[in-house]
Amino acid sequence: MARERREITGPARVRFAPSPTGSLHVGGARTALFNWLIARGTGGAFVLRLEDTDRQRSTPESEAEILRALAWLGLDWDEGPLRQSQRGELHGEAVERLRVAGAIYQAWESEGELEQQRRAATAERRAPVVRGRREWADADLARFEQEGRRPVWRFAVDTGGATAIDDYVRGTVTFEHAAIEDFVVARSDGTATYNLAAAVDDLEMGITHVVRGEDHISNTPKQMMIMRALGGQPPEYAHIPLILGPDKKRLSKRHGAASVEDLRAEGYLPKSVINALALCGWSYDDKTTMFTVEELVEKFSIARVSKSPAVFDAKRLKVLNGRYLRTTPDDEFAEILVEYLTGSGYLDGKGEDAAELVRRSAPTVKRKLGTLAEYDDLAGWLFRPYAMEPEAWDVITVDVKHSVQVIGAGLGRLERLDEFSVEAIREALSDQLHILGESARDFLEPQRIAITGTTVSTGIYESIALLGPEETLARYRSTMGRLAELWQTA
Ligand code: GLU
Repeated sequence: MARERREITGPARVRFAPSPTGSLHVGGARTALFNWLIARGTGGAFVLRLEDTDRQRSTPESEAEILRALAWLGLDWDEGPLRQSQRGELHGEAVERLRVAGAIYQAWESEGELEQQRRAATAERRAPVVRGRREWADADLARFEQEGRRPVWRFAVDTGGATAIDDYVRGTVTFEHAAIEDFVVARSDGTATYNLAAAVDDLEMGITHVVRGEDHISNTPKQMMIMRALGGQPPEYAHIPLILGPDKKRLSKRHGAASVEDLRAEGYLPKSVINALALCGWSYDDKTTMFTVEELVEKFSIARVSKSPAVFDAKRLKVLNGRYLRTTPDDEFAEILVEYLTGSGYLDGKGEDAAELVRRSAPTVKRKLGTLAEYDDLAGWLFRPYAMEPEAWDVITVDVKHSVQVIGAGLGRLERLDEFSVEAIREALSDQLHILGESARDFLEPQRIAITGTTVSTGIYESIALLGPEETLARYRSTMGRLAELWQTA
């Protein structure tokens, strides 16, 4: 019988601990979200800790990008950002306490000697774990000094024992210590390694639950050993599944947008991204796919996080985003669109009225957009000087006579129109369509091409209203002129 899964109860103090060495990727954002949901759902706290001890790879740009991405997603933190690099003293004190307790030892082996140990173990079919020699002759130590060797501090793993993790997602996972090497806790320059710093900080910050990617699970017994050796009580753990692309390979740039910044640039709404991330490993009832952030806070449950790898499907995100865009009220949507197009530089050099034109076109494009970046495909013609695209011209010149007839009839009706409102335009063109006994497609597609010069665009009535009478009639006449010329020469 499957074991009953546990739920996190009581206020959880959780943390998100990114290393500022690049963008905030989908996987990291999902970890941040799960932690945030647990903090908000249990009335606990969400702490942000930047694991920036790798001074070579950590950059202020990456740090800024991660903070910006979290803020954009709406994942606000209650404490921090704490910088691990500023906690060196604390980590140093912990190393000293471990030394006094006899939990660590100085190891002098060179990289070559360690490699030899690993090879010998593999040859004997033992796990290739490294253990340093605890006792050295004075002569050896003198030689090391002469060679300029500096020791590292290794944790003295109790090789007969085992560490069990009672994981919220994976159940009980037991690590035999025989397979765990005497891992390094402090480098030869005295700085703490990731495992030491993470263990000390999780203890010191009073973290109650560590929720992180499954790729960290082999670090967990090491961190638990450190905490116990320091006299501390390890927090509880939940290791959440890896995220794969639709091809079941580990999610990467190959699958398209891989970072939150990319998704933002492509015109996804934060709420769509949040919704899609929540479904990376968690599900509510296997059928509901749209959740507001409030619903997620209420419904998220660690007991319903799957052990199997999750799939992040950009196509599904786009469908979700389209749905969210369509449910956004027109005014609000128009402002989101203007803000996005301004931010992306799209409106640069397009004139003073460009933002107003975007606002006016918003209701009609809203129905067709998957992402905000697709705006140009639908409405870009509004901002370009009028030109007939060859593919569009091909469509209306398959049957020149028919095109002259329907475009001419459309022009006739529009010339007699007093008011260029969407309603008036719709009425006039629909009426004409019925008079001619044409299908909507055969009648309207040529009208659309006549004024936009493209085959893809916003709705025809709305497009005409957006252009206004002068420009609309000029474009109709220009198209008619070219068609007439072709007809005569044919
Ligand atoms: N800094 C680690 C990472 O970015 C996080 C480790 C942890 O959550 O303990 O993968």
